[in-house]
Amino acid sequence: MTKEEKATYDKKYYAENKEKKAEYSRQYQKENPEKINAISARYRKRHPERAKITQDKSRKKRREKTILRYLELKYEGTPCLDCDRVFPFCAMDFDHRPGESKEFGIATKNNLIVTPDHIASIEKEISKCDFVDATCHRIRTRGYRDNV
Ligand SMILES: [Zn+2]
Repeated sequence: MTKEEKATYDKKYYAENKEKKAEYSRQYQKENPEKINAISARYRKRHPERAKITQDKSRKKRREKTILRYLELKYEGTPCLDCDRVFPFCAMDFDHRPGESKEFGIATKNNLIVTPDHIASIEKEISKCDFVDATCHRIRTRGYRDNV
């Protein structure tokens, strides 16, 4: 077998056994977490600037899958119920209407990863809320308190 033939053979072998190799790799990582952690730590120490890029990328990737991002995409551009003005999503709150039973604050679920269950539970809670900007939210809260 010539060098070229060997290279072709190897390439073919890797392509055909990609899944098998990936499975082996996953299994190895699962069984040797301390080895993997040590390798990662060494890499981060040796290449802090590259490690930072990787970390930023994976954070960004994870952020794209969060409830916060889901809500942002869905509600960005929706005007405040009280003043009818549009603000950036980060300036908006989901305010539980008086009399509705509050199971949790919407913002406390921001970092959850989007799954059908999480979406269902968030949407159920949002159905008890008004979408208002932070200033109107504060004025409302004050007003409700004054009425008590
Ligand atoms: Zn408002």
